[in-house]
Amino acid sequence: MYHNREFENMVQNVIGQSEQAVHDLEGQMQGRVTARGDEYYENARKVWNGAVDHYPVAIAFCESAEDVQAAVRTARAHNLPVSVRSRGHDAAGRSVRSDALVIDLSLMDHVQIDDQVATVAGGATAAKVIAAAAARNLMAVTGWNGVPGITGLTTVGGYGPLIASHGLALDSLTGAELVLADGQRLTVDRDKNPDLLLALKGGGGNFGVVTWMKVRLHPARQVLGGMILFPWGEAETVLAGMARQ
Ligand SMILES: Cc1cc2nc3c(=O)[nH]c(=O)nc-3n(C[C@H](O)[C@H](O)[C@H](O)COP(=O)(O)OP(=O)(O)OC[C@H]3O[C@@H](n4cnc5c(N)ncnc54)[C@H](O)[C@@H]3O)c2cc1C
Repeated sequence: MYHNREFENMVQNVIGQSEQAVHDLEGQMQGRVTARGDEYYENARKVWNGAVDHYPVAIAFCESAEDVQAAVRTARAHNLPVSVRSRGHDAAGRSVRSDALVIDLSLMDHVQIDDQVATVAGGATAAKVIAAAAARNLMAVTGWNGVPGITGLTTVGGYGPLIASHGLALDSLTGAELVLADGQRLTVDRDKNPDLLLALKGGGGNFGVVTWMKVRLHPARQVLGGMILFPWGEAETVLAGMARQ
């Protein structure tokens, strides 16, 4: 067998760096870190598209902006690439990059509404925002489906049933907080760093890690049409009910 000692040393060095990075990060984060070889890893690396089969070094389940800062700074200190995952619904699986540290935001999913503005954590689903808004008779501009992350959806545009009256999801984005590549936190809105706010509006994400966004909600007025979806388990009852009409 062909042996290249220099190459082997290089591989060992990279593995060593990654292990050290995971070890350092575990000591700094409030949330959990799962790495290759541990029992949670296989499940944690999955995304919505089952055909995506990426093997990151580790996945950091962040619980706060401070956790995100720790993950970014640790990755930087160990020369580790990063990818950011909100709810993992990108069809190409770009949120989980092989040989990288995945910054997972799914535990940061709170939604708070003041007046007609929702402050939405970076890992919230569209469904969570819709439900919180609906409880106040307000509507959130999202997609047709509640499962994608609202941040991932908004930063790529976000087309849905309200497009005719309120445009894309990005049109309701008024501000955000990001953790930048150097680990600093930055707030953006119409007055502070407006160019970065513009970049978030459809620029495809990854201009930093969005820890929260502010989105304008809209009063729910007259509804003229729409879809009613039932769970598969209720199919028999629903079809029987329709047959009786
Ligand atoms: C079943 C299904 C239904 C869909 N329906 C619609 C629809 O009706 N309308 C529509 O417009 N789109 C729709 N989409 C597309 C979906 O909105 C995009 O794929 C969106 O990017 C998914 O967001 P996510 O957070 O779930 O994905 P992720 O895979 O987690 O993220 C997508 C991208 O955004 C980046 N990103 C995510 N969160 C952050 C963050 N907080 N900070 C920085 N970067 C981040 C990721 O790194 C990745 O590159 C649908 C997708 C699926 C799978």
